[in-house]
This record gives sequence, structure tokens and C-alpha cells, in this order.
Amino acid sequence: MFGINGNFLKFGSSYLFASVNAKAKEYAKVNPDKKIISLGIGDVTLPIAPAIVDAMVNASKEMGQAETFRGYGPYQGYDFLLKAIAENDYRSRGVDISEDEIFVSDGAKSDCSNILDLFSIDNKIAVQDPVYPVYVDSNVIDGRAGRQRPDGSYNKTIYMPCVEENNFLPKFPERQPDIIYLNFPNNPTGAMADYNTLKTWVDYALSIDAIILYDGAYEAFISEDKPKSIFEIPGAKKCAIEFRSFSKTAGFTGIRCAYTVIPNELRASGTQLNKLWYRRQATKFNGVSYVVQRAAEAVYSEQGKKQVKDNINYYMENAAIIKKGLEGIGLKAFGGVNAPYIWVKTPNDFGSWEFFDYLMRKTQIVVTPGEGFGPAGRGYIRLTAFNTRENTLEAVERFKRIK
Ligand code: PLP
Repeated sequence: MFGINGNFLKFGSSYLFASVNAKAKEYAKVNPDKKIISLGIGDVTLPIAPAIVDAMVNASKEMGQAETFRGYGPYQGYDFLLKAIAENDYRSRGVDISEDEIFVSDGAKSDCSNILDLFSIDNKIAVQDPVYPVYVDSNVIDGRAGRQRPDGSYNKTIYMPCVEENNFLPKFPERQPDIIYLNFPNNPTGAMADYNTLKTWVDYALSIDAIILYDGAYEAFISEDKPKSIFEIPGAKKCAIEFRSFSKTAGFTGIRCAYTVIPNELRASGTQLNKLWYRRQATKFNGVSYVVQRAAEAVYSEQGKKQVKDNINYYMENAAIIKKGLEGIGLKAFGGVNAPYIWVKTPNDFGSWEFFDYLMRKTQIVVTPGEGFGPAGRGYIRLTAFNTRENTLEAVERFKRIK
């Protein structure tokens, strides 16, 4: 008889956002007259920018002509997109990344999970706590995370608490990790590391022969003078892989396009990880569609850059409105400056899920309970700035009901 991957049985509960969704749906069913506003799930709301739509239309038309039709594309991505990424996201900032170090994909979620194919099952992982749940969950599936404890944490995983006292920046862990996940700007706290902080992490990783998996999915939201890429730090090319995504940058959550940078200098026991990843992708992945890659290329056109920036500004104005509104009613709110997330301390020692239920009843606003991002998220909720201006303003008004 066939067997299953028993690691799946180590999951304690359902995927965080599925639980949030189910609760919101249940509430809506029982209270059909109430208008729910979601500041919970991190999906964008603005439509795709016109320059990007034009590029998709043109590329679709090319696919309908014999002379310009294309079948399977190159495994790493089309040259036109690799060039645009290398030029705009790296070389223009003085970071020398070449096209053959970039791999275009359908998402940072798949890349940051699939990358685990390259690593030994014995490697110890360290994660910021709280953080995007996919890092730990994908290690649960592989069997690297360990057994789940009653508080939801996993016994072989090294958690690096990011709390108010350390400005939501992790400290080096007591147990030595092999794989260090760093996510800046951080989901959910909105924290962003400065150059010196990132340098200490690169130096640390090099000193213990660890690898940094650097998730920069929210890089486009950085408004302060902070590094946009881990590769701005000297030595990072020897110890880091970087994930980027067009999802939040340009509203591609439904279109799907992202990329991963694996420097040629990055080696383990003499083996180039870039070559391993190429082999892995060639085996398990057949690339991102031509139309989507043309859409991603248009993000870097003059018009595309401007339109995308306007959308990011819109979301970040929402973030400022939410933060100010919450502070105005005496809540402690963090983030919202370099990230579209506001991390809020629950009042009166409310648990996160308790506060979630309370807000739903009292305001019909859906938030994300902090403990879904790790044990140190207990006592916090996450709000997102991705809703419309109208709903954001209304949500801030409704928050006053909890005074
Ligand atoms: N990384 C982080 C930190 C995220 O918050 C998200 C999405 O919410 C992703 C990656 C996933 O990005 P993508 O849509 O490219 O799969």
C-alpha cells in the first residue's frame, strides 16, 4: 500500500489565512446585513497599471501570430526580463548581479519553499518570530522543523523573537543555525533592518558557514535610506540567496511573477548552488509564461515605474492613515513606514484570536491574529494597507467604537 509523507501530520492546524477566511465567512453568514472590511489578508486591490496591461495585450497578440509565437521559454527566464531586473534592481544601485544569477519564477512563495530541495535534511533552520509562516511550514513538510509543541512552535526550529524591546530585529540565536531566514521589510511587523544590522548578519553567517535566505518581497515599500538588497552588503554573495516578487510591487498576486538571485560565488562543499538550482528548475519547473514575463518587463519601463510607484504611494498613505488612527485611540502601532503592514499591540492583554473575535463583533473589521506568525506574535494583530482608501478611512472610523 502506498504511504504518505507523514510530516504533513505534524501540522497542528490549518493554514493561518484559511482559518481567518473561514471565520470571516461564518460571521458574514450569520450577519448578512453587516459590511465586513478586510484588513487581514495581504492581497492588493488596485488594478494592474496601464503600461503593464498594454505589454500583456501586445505579448498576447504576438502569441497569436505564427512569426512571433513562442512555446517553452528558457528555464531561467527570457533575456529581456533578466536584463531589466539586473539593470534596474541591482546595477543601478551599484550591485553587480549578472543575468545568469537570476531565476524568474511564478512566485516568492514557491521559490522560498522549493529552495529547500537544495539543502540537507539535517540542517537547522532559524526564523524571525513572528514571520511569514511559509518558511516554517515548508520545513515541516520536509521534516526539518521538528515536532509541534502546544504553543504552535516546532522543537527543532530556532525561533528568534522580534519584539518591541529589540525593535522587532532578531538577535543571533543561542543554538547555531545552518539556514537563516531573514525577511525585510518584515511581514508582519513592518520592521526594516539598516545597513549595519544586515552587515552583522552577513558577517555572522560567514563566520559559522550558514546560508541566509533573504526574502525581500516588500523591497518596493522601503521609504527610508535602508538597503534594498542583501547583496548591497559586502560578502553577501558568498552566503545569501535573495527572493523578490512582483506581487506586491506591481499588483501581480494574480498574474504571478517573481525571481530569485543565487550568486555564482555561493558554494557549499565546493558545489555552486546556482548550478544546483538550475538543475532543480530544469527538472521540476517549465518557466513563467511569455505574456507574464513581458508584463514584468513593463514594470521597469519609464511609464511602468511611475504607475507602479503611484500605487505603492497610495497603499503607504493608507498605512499612514491606519497608523495615525490607531495611535489616536491609544493603541500601540508599529511598522507602516517601510512596509504595507501595521503591527498592533492588543489592549488589556487580549489574546490575538480573542481580539480578532472582538473586532469582528464590534467593528466588522477582519485582521490577522499575530500568533499565526509565530509564538512571539501572541498579543498582537496585523493590519494591511492594501484595501481601498474608502474602506481604510471607514475602518479607522469604526476602530473608534472600541474606545
Ligand atoms: N514573502 C513574503 C514575506 C510574503 O509576505 C509573501 C506574500 O504574502 C510572499 C513571499 C509570497 O509572494 P508571491 O506572491 O510572489 O508568492
